[in-house]
Amino acid sequence: MNAPSPAPTIRLSRSCVGEEEIAALARVIRAGYLGMGSEVQKFEEELKAWIETDMSVTCVNTGTAALHLAMEALDIGPGDEVLVPSITYLASFQAVTACGATPIPCDVTLDRAFIDLDDARKRVTPRTRAIMPVHYGSDSQGMDMVYAFAHEHGLRVVEDAAHGFGCSRNGRKIGQDGDILCFSFDGIKNITSGEGGAVVTGDEKVAQRVRDARLLAVEKDSESRYSGQRTWLFDVHHQGYRYHMSNLMAAIGREQLKKLGSFSARRRHLVARYRSLLAGAQGLRMLDLDYDNIVPHIFVLRILGGRRDLLARALKEAGIESGIHYQANHLLSYFNRGYALPASEVLLEQIISIPLHAMLTDEEQDRVVRVVLQTLEA
Ligand SMILES: *Cc1c(COP(=O)(O)O)cnc(C)c1O
Repeated sequence: MNAPSPAPTIRLSRSCVGEEEIAALARVIRAGYLGMGSEVQKFEEELKAWIETDMSVTCVNTGTAALHLAMEALDIGPGDEVLVPSITYLASFQAVTACGATPIPCDVTLDRAFIDLDDARKRVTPRTRAIMPVHYGSDSQGMDMVYAFAHEHGLRVVEDAAHGFGCSRNGRKIGQDGDILCFSFDGIKNITSGEGGAVVTGDEKVAQRVRDARLLAVEKDSESRYSGQRTWLFDVHHQGYRYHMSNLMAAIGREQLKKLGSFSARRRHLVARYRSLLAGAQGLRMLDLDYDNIVPHIFVLRILGGRRDLLARALKEAGIESGIHYQANHLLSYFNRGYALPASEVLLEQIISIPLHAMLTDEEQDRVVRVVLQTLEA
């Protein structure tokens, strides 16, 4: 007799793509124009229409590139400082160092892992130019306070909204308001374009600078390429990059945008279920996020009593992936400035992300919940 095959691994996250994306890619390939062209323009228009924003939307090849170009468009460079919450994806920090500026790690709040403005206040210097709040776990409830803080200190705000696409706050969609917002469409975000990102801003000077800088800073080359042209003779005033989005990527993104409604419903359903199934569990806390208004990109538990790694091992043994969002950046050699950030360090010991993506089934989720409860109750 054959041994029963083990249950398939439950993935932490995954790209949720199918025949629609395949057909869209085939269409672009057959048309023979793979680079940046009209497909990207259409994706930008559709994003703008979905968000219902007057601000301009510029697509690039990663969320990291979006953050980097936002920094550059503000002329942030060597000698300048940017306040960044320590608990975030490495990309937020690298986007600041990429332009030669210094990321200043700030603590986060224990209940939401959102930038702690009381801590940030202590770190403002005459060199501080901007603050980069992160929509951690897709939540941005604290954003109004960030804007008040930025106003008080004369700072620009670059929102790392990599987790925030599809969410809303105060009845307004993310991307309708704000100084500069950066989305990510990497493979596992709320929607994907394979890899990809977007800069959203109402500051037309910043928007034009980003549009040009994504194509080696050739002025208005984006506009030419949208109509199938190129700019051959030009002058250049700034550093530029090859950060543009391709038609292939945009074609995937356009299909994903059509699926956002069903993805959102699924992610919200799963998170509501996690919250009710884990509600009474001993030794864990859930983050105090605005669950009714977000499309949750990740689902993070705080495991108390030093048992996080025990749970991670138990999940692994049961064929379930988990993750840690994120390593505290202030502890990384490249960014360490020699001070402690107590809440970030507490969270770093406690946080674990359990599977969440739009293709996760209720049955798979039940398996995850069983392992969590069994481990914590043991
Ligand atoms: C994904 C992510 C980014 C970077 O986006 P990429 O598209 O992967 O480059 C930045 N910040 C956060 C918080 C992210 O989760």
